[in-house]
Amino acid sequence: MTNITLVRGDITEQEVDAVVNAANSSLLGGGGVDGAVHRRGGPEILAACRELRAGHYGRGLAAGAAVATTAGRLPARWVIHTVGPVFSAEEDRSATLASCYRESLRVADELGARTVAFPAISTGIYRWPMADAADIALRTVATTPTEVTEARFVLFDEKAYDTFRAALPGGP
Ligand code: ADP
Repeated sequence: MTNITLVRGDITEQEVDAVVNAANSSLLGGGGVDGAVHRRGGPEILAACRELRAGHYGRGLAAGAAVATTAGRLPARWVIHTVGPVFSAEEDRSATLASCYRESLRVADELGARTVAFPAISTGIYRWPMADAADIALRTVATTPTEVTEARFVLFDEKAYDTFRAALPGGP
């Protein structure tokens, strides 16, 4: 059973075994969490991502999939990159968003990571409404079998934090 915790803060500062990056499928950097991870983690992470692109991930990382690299200079040991779906009002992509959390936990288990920090995947540049994203994130992590002992949601602002709190099973 994973202990789910919520904190307000910056994911790049978390002292956990692995931090999850809301990457894009190129794996070569972007804005939001991705930009912060590469900026704070240094060039080692991008070098590892380039190696992935030169090898098994020639076409990039699909939405809903996850892959790990070094965390470079971050306090964490690994970065688990996952690609959230872009929100669509026409098409239900919630299974892909759930898959990001499930696959990240699977990769964490493979690495032997016990503490993992997650951002609110897809809620920034990919425009997923926070309340719905929080519901999917919390439900998926709570129901995925894993050896991870702490799944820490790191919410960047107070509104996101309050929305996650309200979505916790049992309410705020
Ligand atoms: P996506 O492309 O999956 O939407 P973003 O990185 O644009 O990902 O945003 C995901 C969420 O992470 C947003 O709610 C955003 O406010 C938040 N965020 C941005 N930077 C950080 C950070 N350094 N630490 C934690 N959360 C962050």
